[in-house]
Amino acid sequence: MQSQNKGKLYIIGIGPGSVEQMTVAARDAVLNSDYVVGNGTYLDQIKSLLDGQEIIRSHMGKEVDRAKKAVELATENVVAMVSGGDANVYGMAGLVLEVAEHQDLDVDIEVLPGVTAITAGASVLGAPIVNDFAVISLSDLLTPWELIEKRLKAASEADFIIALYNPKSRQRNSNFRRAIEIISQHRDGSAPVGLVKNALRGDSQEFKVTRLGEVLDYDDWVDMRTMILVSTKNSRIWEQDGIERIITPRGYQNKYDY
Ligand code: SAH
Repeated sequence: MQSQNKGKLYIIGIGPGSVEQMTVAARDAVLNSDYVVGNGTYLDQIKSLLDGQEIIRSHMGKEVDRAKKAVELATENVVAMVSGGDANVYGMAGLVLEVAEHQDLDVDIEVLPGVTAITAGASVLGAPIVNDFAVISLSDLLTPWELIEKRLKAASEADFIIALYNPKSRQRNSNFRRAIEIISQHRDGSAPVGLVKNALRGDSQEFKVTRLGEVLDYDDWVDMRTMILVSTKNSRIWEQDGIERIITPRGYQNKYDY
């Protein structure tokens, strides 16, 4: 429903790392806003677009305050709330809509999508997710660890390609190891695995290609800026000019010659 006020709240996924990876709609919304709200990392990522808007820097762990503030401001102003990747994928969209629903404010909200870590990481690795996949966050701050384990088991048993987000943090260093142990109980150790750190963030991007049986060799390398793709035994590693990539066939080979 269109609001009677002149304000508007855009909840914006700014993509994986650089302004070039944002949608044109997201870029326009940031440029045309009165206020831009977000945590420092995301604001730095889009600083070339910040010129004249009021900037409200927020901090990790202050998401509820940030959501309330953005909704309040948007009753009278055009506000861009920025979130990394896509705002629906473990991002701010849910919380902001819940706050708006709860406070019953007359505010016009539009969610603008962004490139999320799984598609950013997949593009670096080649073609690893060209079939059904499951995305699982290993953060147990808001989800009980028992439920995360249940989902890991179900996704492995159902032969989904599995993307792991939030593999580690300072407080939760063993979650990645534990997740790999669970997946390994249900999946062949030869399944290709790709690990991408800082996908599409210029020179800081790094990636590794390995197999499920060996991926824990990279345990120390994995951090909170890394996403991991565990493919299935139908996927394969393709080496070209010394660079390894992952291909997950969609099944065309069963129907066509090429
Ligand atoms: N809303 C974000 C995800 C937030 S959860 C999105 O849609 O991408 C944060 C996790 O996402 C990180 O711990 C990491 O696992 C992953 N991630 C986000 N950006 C990434 C990037 N550029 N490269 C690799 N992993 C990334």
